[in-house]
Amino acid sequence: MRTKLHERTLILCKPDTVQRGIVGEIITRFEKKGLKIIAMKMVLPTRKLAQSHYDMPESDKIAMGEKSISAYEEHGEKINKTPIQIAEDIQKRLETYLTAGPVVAMVIEGAHAVAHVRKIRGGTNPLTADIGSITADLAIDSYFLSDPDERAVRNLVHASGSVVEAEREIKLWFSEDEIIDYELAIEKILYDKDWEDTRKKITREE
Ligand code: ADP
Ligand code: MG
Repeated sequence: MRTKLHERTLILCKPDTVQRGIVGEIITRFEKKGLKIIAMKMVLPTRKLAQSHYDMPESDKIAMGEKSISAYEEHGEKINKTPIQIAEDIQKRLETYLTAGPVVAMVIEGAHAVAHVRKIRGGTNPLTADIGSITADLAIDSYFLSDPDERAVRNLVHASGSVVEAEREIKLWFSEDEIIDYELAIEKILYDKDWEDTRKKITREE
């Protein structure tokens, strides 16, 4: 059952998730929310795939750089680089991170899937992510640990940042025939407009 508010989004359990043996924990969090996995596979990413995945428009580079600058400012420090310079440094490090070992890639579908998945994944920097999210609960890294070592912050999971980003990324990681259109039993409870009426039939008489 798909409502007009349904979206699809791409999730990558990055190499540190696989190595730490917590892929199941990650999947469980999305399943428990009521989101549906419509594609899933293990991939050993090539450098080319990692490059294409992180090949972002200039506006996204600026956003990525600015996010780092404000994290440092909140920490009482200043970075002497432009947002673009920061993003380009990070981009190279990300390719190394993503190609460090197998990743588990998934396409997830559900109402408002992009926003829900981003919330469950949590903020980029585990140090300041909201408690209850994957990055806050399961990752101990921070920009302040990763940047001096010239590596990407190990935050376990990638989740598309918008519907447009998701569309591009899903095409990159999955072919059409790897995505399965099926119905979950729980969808009736989550989305069916008549679900309460079916319940009334088994309610005890007054
Ligand atoms: P998100 O994963 O939250 O969408 P971005 O798209 O801004 O974040 O960045 C992509 C990835 O780059 C992050 O998940 C993280 O692994 C890494 N990253 C971002 N900013 C930094 C930084 N300042 N230092 C190290 N790694 C970073
Ligand atoms: Mg992003």
